[in-house]
Amino acid sequence: MDPLHTFDVVVVGKGNAALCAALSARDQGVRVAMLEAATEDESGGNSRFAGGVMRFAYESVGDLKQVTELTDDEIATSDFGTNTREEYFDDLYRLTSYRTDADLSETLVTKSLETMAWLRSKGARFVPNYGRQSGLVDGKRKFFGRLPIEVSGGGAGLVQYLDGAARKAGIEVFYETRATSLIYDGAKVHGVRAQCKGEPVEFRARSVVLACGGFEANPEWRTRYLGPGWELAKVRGSRFNMGDGLRMALEIGAAPYGNWSGCHATGWDRYAPEFGDVNVGDQFQKHSYIFGLLINSSGRRFVDEGWDFHSFTYAKYGGEVLKQPGQFAWQVFDSKVKNLLRSEYRIKFVTKVTANSIEELAPQLEGVDPAQFVKTVREYNAAVRDDVKFDHTVKDGKCTVGVEPPKSNWAQKLDTPPFDAYATTCGITFTFGGLRIDRESGQVLNVHFHPIPGLYCAGEMVGGLFYFNYPSGTGLVSGAVFGRIAGTGAGQAARA
Ligand SMILES: Cc1cc2nc3c(=O)[nH]c(=O)nc-3n(C[C@H](O)[C@H](O)[C@H](O)COP(=O)(O)OP(=O)(O)OC[C@H]3O[C@@H](n4cnc5c(N)ncnc54)[C@H](O)[C@@H]3O)c2cc1C
Repeated sequence: MDPLHTFDVVVVGKGNAALCAALSARDQGVRVAMLEAATEDESGGNSRFAGGVMRFAYESVGDLKQVTELTDDEIATSDFGTNTREEYFDDLYRLTSYRTDADLSETLVTKSLETMAWLRSKGARFVPNYGRQSGLVDGKRKFFGRLPIEVSGGGAGLVQYLDGAARKAGIEVFYETRATSLIYDGAKVHGVRAQCKGEPVEFRARSVVLACGGFEANPEWRTRYLGPGWELAKVRGSRFNMGDGLRMALEIGAAPYGNWSGCHATGWDRYAPEFGDVNVGDQFQKHSYIFGLLINSSGRRFVDEGWDFHSFTYAKYGGEVLKQPGQFAWQVFDSKVKNLLRSEYRIKFVTKVTANSIEELAPQLEGVDPAQFVKTVREYNAAVRDDVKFDHTVKDGKCTVGVEPPKSNWAQKLDTPPFDAYATTCGITFTFGGLRIDRESGQVLNVHFHPIPGLYCAGEMVGGLFYFNYPSGTGLVSGAVFGRIAGTGAGQAARA
């Protein structure tokens, strides 16, 4: 390969945020290249592993129709609920303990619907999320968790749609090209140095957009920033997000921002491979714990499984599993809720045991104190309120009384055989620490909060949105919102 290339805009990465940035820069009429560390086969970052649920603000079926086709029959037989801007703000603020950056979250929430429509205009196809986010109530399909729409084909589908648009737009992609440092003269960024199949290459550009993920795949950085033990987490997605973009930007004085010791991590099959497997996608996850119990090696519960819909707890509870001795937890269910378990409980690669009584199940829970487990279930069963009706489509308030931790919703007795248990560990999704950006242009700010000329960033690399926790379906939408902003900013600056 030529050791020197020149473009107007160079985008580092080829996930959702990078593709949105590249397409937006191209819409400014400039020449755009994308650098992807992975081979074409492995390209697409975490975006390609995503389940594909999309959280955006909508108030009515009319808003949803900007995003997806809905038949009259679907409209008549469904209750799509709402995710008003206020509800979206409330969820973001509540889950981040009121730490989310006010400007960034306002941008995310207020631009989310128009960005979904823009993704559609670029070829993405969205459909109602019947499978995972709805239930039948009085003959009507009721959606819960405020995210009724997913991208057809999941994250892999989204990447494929946007990839098609990028090809059509004439955006050049360089695979197996890992960006290593920024070309910076002390005043402005002029491009990127990279390694392409072992050879050094320079990409000169008027603007650079970094959209190359966080540091979730880097065990050394995880230990350094998230803390001891995090090197033991499984990686749910791409193995290429090593923190390169963050390092490159920090090296030239970019301002770090956000929850650098925080991340999104979920329950994940205990024996899943070290990194994500695109053929399995997100299916190693186990998100139906709200209907059962989470049990650690001491045979005890350690979180409120029913604190809220899984959409609002799953991103935090992976970290709680990591804190347990041996970094594992069993999810235990009885047959009453079997029909409510998500599809991921029925895949071929699953670590599962079954028994006809709790006493018979106990010795099968590898690594667990069996006597304490039986005691925990008895105490829990005795604490369940019988006078409240179970309803999985709302926070039903069917709770426990007198056990610690409590279970606040969906607390039913474990009393109906057969009993199933699934072994999980912690799977890290992405890291929350990132860079400080200007929300209007996506430009990266330096440590004095001045824009660094020529440098933009998007996606997981944007710091300040998520702290401690995360509402499901926000990653792809925020990647698209800030990808569009950064690409447009970079394209306009390159044209000027
Ligand atoms: C299993 C799983 C399920 C998920 N489900 C959902 C969901 O349903 N809804 C949702 O909204 N979010 C979901 N997410 C989160 C979502 O995938 C991420 O928030 C989002 O994809 C991040 O997009 P991104 O473009 O910032 O990063 P990525 O998609 O990870 O892209 C980063 C890109 O940078 C490349 N790269 C890294 N380093 C370099 C380098 N030095 N040089 C060149 N290229 C480099 C990578 O190869 C990759 O192409 C899920 C994530 C996972 C792992």
